[in-house]
Amino acid sequence: MNSNTTIRNDWSIQEIENIYHQPLLELIYQAATVHRQWHKASEVQVCTLLSVKTGGCPEDCSYCGQAARYHTGITVKALMSKDDVVAIAQRAKDSGSSRFCMAAAWREVRDNRDFENILEMVQGVNEIGLEVCCTLGMITETQAARLQEAGLYAYNHNLDTSKDYYQEIINTRTYDDRLSTLNNVRKAGISVCSGGIIGLGETHADRINMLHTLSTLAQHPESVPVNALARVKGTPLADLPKVDSWEMVRMIATARILMPKSMVRLSAGRAEMTTEEQSWCFMAGANSIFTSESEELLVTPNPRLDDDRKMFELLGLKPMQKEKITNTIPSL
Ligand code: SF4
Repeated sequence: MNSNTTIRNDWSIQEIENIYHQPLLELIYQAATVHRQWHKASEVQVCTLLSVKTGGCPEDCSYCGQAARYHTGITVKALMSKDDVVAIAQRAKDSGSSRFCMAAAWREVRDNRDFENILEMVQGVNEIGLEVCCTLGMITETQAARLQEAGLYAYNHNLDTSKDYYQEIINTRTYDDRLSTLNNVRKAGISVCSGGIIGLGETHADRINMLHTLSTLAQHPESVPVNALARVKGTPLADLPKVDSWEMVRMIATARILMPKSMVRLSAGRAEMTTEEQSWCFMAGANSIFTSESEELLVTPNPRLDDDRKMFELLGLKPMQKEKITNTIPSL
């Protein structure tokens, strides 16, 4: 792919505001142009997300159905076995996924038997030729290095929102804790997956500030998930209004322009979007979606695999193939 745009890490808030607040069609056109300079627009990476340990989390993230303190009625499940996880990963690969993300509802990784099991899962999924990603909460530099040695390709740790709005959403850890985990991941040579959620009650300025933090990191995250709040009954944010899809489009387009080479992932919220609404997200530069056998994204609904297949066919999209998966970081 050729690139007429350069990768910049010195975006100002004002520049981002100017991009974000453009008339929508101008913004989409600019993002679609950048997208085509850096990526094959007909290819969308299909990632499978599996909750390997569900619920019972001690954190207080206000949007999350897995926080133990909210009465959401989800079934708490202990860490899955390596064999079960690898079998699901194989089926995910067979149905077109090239990335497999394992999520555990933990505050942080502890150096115990569960972590050893996770390392074995990473190794097993890596061996079947998938990009392996984990999202396990906060990790230290040493833990990140061990995950890298086991074959971890990427680590997800979202910023969620802006630094200013963060305390309205989470109190059990700080924004700097999050940045520190991202730093540990980067130092270990693992590719970084970090994005956020819209619809938490934040302002446009908060969204712009979060994008500013991500796009001015010394190296852009290779992967930027953009999520719409999935309103889970029993959580403090359950009664917030549904996110307007055009807000997702605006966010995705701005992320695409600021971080041209990154994978921009249309993540939570698809279950409440029509095919037409998702199409606009692809046009605005999204080039990845999440699927799961259970048709749930962790504990919230996700479209059926079959509906995604039909959507790809209708739009002429192909699942992105990874020629050779290694756990080295793609350079920006
Ligand atoms: S988002 Fe993660 S850390 Fe926060 S409560 Fe949910 S599982 Fe725990």
